[in-house]
Amino acid sequence: MNQQPTTAHWTAEDEATLLDTIDAWVERSVRPIAREYDQEDKYPHELVEEMKELGLFGATISPEYGGLGLSASTYAKIVTKVASVWMAPSGIFNSHLIMAAAIERCGTEDQKRRYLPRMAAGELRGGLGLTEPNAGTDLQAIRTVARRDGDHYVINGAKTWITNSLHGSAILLLVKTDPEAQPRHKGMSMFIAEKGEGFIVAKKMKKLGYRAIDTCELVFQDYRLPADCLLGGEEGRGFQHAVGGLELGRINIAARGAGIAEGALRMAVRYAQERKTFGKPICEHQAIQLKLGEMAARVEAAKLLVESAARAYDTGQRCDMEAGMAKYFATETGVFCAQEAMRIFGGYSYSTEYEIERFYRDAMLMCIGEGTNEMQRIIIAKQLVERNRI
Ligand SMILES: Cc1cc2nc3c(=O)[nH]c(=O)nc-3n(C[C@H](O)[C@H](O)[C@H](O)COP(=O)(O)OP(=O)(O)OC[C@H]3O[C@@H](n4cnc5c(N)ncnc54)[C@H](O)[C@@H]3O)c2cc1C
Repeated sequence: MNQQPTTAHWTAEDEATLLDTIDAWVERSVRPIAREYDQEDKYPHELVEEMKELGLFGATISPEYGGLGLSASTYAKIVTKVASVWMAPSGIFNSHLIMAAAIERCGTEDQKRRYLPRMAAGELRGGLGLTEPNAGTDLQAIRTVARRDGDHYVINGAKTWITNSLHGSAILLLVKTDPEAQPRHKGMSMFIAEKGEGFIVAKKMKKLGYRAIDTCELVFQDYRLPADCLLGGEEGRGFQHAVGGLELGRINIAARGAGIAEGALRMAVRYAQERKTFGKPICEHQAIQLKLGEMAARVEAAKLLVESAARAYDTGQRCDMEAGMAKYFATETGVFCAQEAMRIFGGYSYSTEYEIERFYRDAMLMCIGEGTNEMQRIIIAKQLVERNRI
């Protein structure tokens, strides 16, 4: 059973009002700046302030800790809406909420009271610090080490590809507290790591897509943390804490993939009616109709898979297979629709005047983050066999 945060009672009417508010915000504030901020790789500080007002930094945090207590289903719809216009800003609250969910699921009561209200208000903004230069999929191979020193830990090592680490103020940091432990996962722990001396943002990375959002290399040099920052207060549980949050993380990424797919389809449907060749709009050529038909069917299927995984998560069912299917299919659909839309736009797809090229650049990341799509299919297959043992 998942031990997800308490969800507040949101009626269908409340949900519709909330989604309308998000729609209006996306049109008013996100769409107009997307192209410029993406191209200039400029951080959208003003969106962060508006996200605070909308309550997005506390979207899935329980009301008792100051959050909105949204279900995964409602939250996924918000993410899809944002990503259908510009995927990158969803990362500002997505990674932050995965960190918050881990604290709520695995933290001590003191940690929940200390961090979650500040996170819900957006005063403390964070992300996840798992990946290292030598270890992404194989997380148990990380080398960052935390050694106990009285009532502190001293941390040394490096992380890479960490989203929200320049403009955010904290990360949930995966380390080895016992590098010699066998099996390796027994020597892993997580820390709630606020920025301080020895927590060094070494370099902002230049990226193909997902621009405007800060993704950095971090170095930890004799970085000292009080022992009460150890998530859950017990060493050796970090790997379980990290993988325990993956279902929600994958639903998030799936929702982003579905959003990219839906946005690309929307643009393609419009352009196919505007652009004429051989005396008629290209949407009247069968080759284009085949593309639009295929895209539309896959978008609908992706959204349904996201919804079904989110519903399973909300009811507390084990849903690693469902989340894996949603993540795999919806993100591949994002890539598929972005590519097909590029073809429909013809030469103009290559112009930065038309925003479809951004969807094309952003889509591929969704197939890599939060467990690559190769790993998703392996997880699906393993669960399939597990659930159908003969
Ligand atoms: C823009 C961006 C933002 C990111 N943000 C964050 C963040 O905020 N926090 C964070 O911790 N990380 C973040 N990441 C890192 C991301 O999670 C990793 O890139 C991802 O987990 C893959 O790890 P890797 O790059 O080391 O690839 P590798 O693990 O080296 O994998 C390389 C290839 O081998 C395949 N492979 C590996 N092992 C197996 C296996 N057992 N079976 C079959 N195939 C296998 C993979 O599927 C992949 O195709 C981010 C990455 C990017 C690009």
